[in-house]
Amino acid sequence: MTAPVRTRFAPSPTGDLHIGGLRTALFQWAFARANGGQLVLRIEDTDRERYVEGAVEVIAEGLRWLGVDWDEGPGAGGPHAPYVQSERLDRYHAVAAELRARGRAYRCFCSPERLARLRADQRAGGEPGGYDGRCAAIPEAGAEARARTEPSVVRFRMDRAGTTTLDDLVRGRVAFENALQDDFVLLKADGFPTYHLAMLADDHEMEITHVIRAEEWLASAPRHLQLYEAMGWPAPRFAHIPLIVDGAGRKLSKREGDVGVLSFRDRGYLPEAMLNFLAFLGWSLDDRTSHITREEFARVFTLDRVVPNPAAFDVERLDALNGHYIRALPPGRWRELAGEWIERGLPADVPRPLDSALLDALAPLLQERVARLDELPGLVRFLFGEAPEYPAALLAERIGGDAALAARALDAAIAAVEGVAPGEWGPVPVEAALRSLQDALGLKLRKFVSVLYVAVMGAPRGIPLFDSAALLGRERTLARLRAARAKLA
Ligand code: GLU
Repeated sequence: MTAPVRTRFAPSPTGDLHIGGLRTALFQWAFARANGGQLVLRIEDTDRERYVEGAVEVIAEGLRWLGVDWDEGPGAGGPHAPYVQSERLDRYHAVAAELRARGRAYRCFCSPERLARLRADQRAGGEPGGYDGRCAAIPEAGAEARARTEPSVVRFRMDRAGTTTLDDLVRGRVAFENALQDDFVLLKADGFPTYHLAMLADDHEMEITHVIRAEEWLASAPRHLQLYEAMGWPAPRFAHIPLIVDGAGRKLSKREGDVGVLSFRDRGYLPEAMLNFLAFLGWSLDDRTSHITREEFARVFTLDRVVPNPAAFDVERLDALNGHYIRALPPGRWRELAGEWIERGLPADVPRPLDSALLDALAPLLQERVARLDELPGLVRFLFGEAPEYPAALLAERIGGDAALAARALDAAIAAVEGVAPGEWGPVPVEAALRSLQDALGLKLRKFVSVLYVAVMGAPRGIPLFDSAALLGRERTLARLRAARAKLA
């Protein structure tokens, strides 16, 4: 019988959950689900300097938003609790002691100053960096006595002969020259483990079968394989998933704006769009499928369809997917969501509660027209409260800057709209009245309405003009057309 698949998401609580971290979690989750296995959430908080208060909650919220649920970990409990590394220090000390007993680890007393000098000398001499093994030969007994009075770290004794070979589930066979490795730190002077030691101890104890992680860890794989070997433990399978890069091929970072998961939520991306988008960052189902649901992804995901080369983060693609999922929402759900975003996004001076019948009428007009929910308040602002403010020049912007023509268009529109009786007011009569002006003005309706858009909503485009005028009402529409005309006087 083979062991059930167990993967883990092991974020460091150093701030936001980055979009790349969420993609990693999504792949780990999908792999566990597709194989009837389990996902463990483990908090790797052993770097005390980078620890950020509240980061664990932010991570959990980001995962929950996308629907990435974990079977064990903070909030879920499980047989291997605690799932927070700072609460598991005794285990790391035990593993470090065992490695020392096996002659595969030793205490090192080199000061940070000596190590800095060593690095500088290596750089100056054009040599590869890495620890030179100065403390490797100190006998255990002497080292123990010294450690009582002197700060020390514990280092792993790397086997420097031959090669270490990784059979990566994404990259295939990768061979590493052991001569290029060095004796790296397992336990730091503050008694906290490094990533390498903590990961070894926890992945083993938590019975992790598949370590799916970012490509940046590939170079550490020989260390990890040698650690497993030194402990006599079977190593898990490794899958290093590709980097996410920006349009210029650079690693995606804060430079490109906020890449925190919750900031995407707060900009009005739907979780189903984000999941679909992330699913295809480095993975594909076949050469046709571009839409996928959470349930389907969790059913069909395989590691052999993950590609090793970098995946480009394309915001336009994300926006297009989001528009797709917005249009696919059932009308009732859309009405509710649109209402919430409008309510929240309109300025405080707009009287609440908002007119619910107006929102009912608006919702279908908006569903076809937005890529992100945060566009909504701006699109409907003109219907609530004061008339919009805009520079007079905007009126003629789409008709070649011809202010006299804009003035004539407004005069004609005012007369036409006045001709629609209050009892007949609605999108169809308004459209008919305005359409009849095209010939007299010698301007296509499309161009001509841009002037009216600015007059009514303060922007040359927005939700359909005739519907907007109908919702705004006859008197307010006329008042805005007249105010626009006055700007051009
Ligand atoms: N704490 C590591 C990180 O946040 C985990 C890497 C891994 O998945 O092993 O990058």
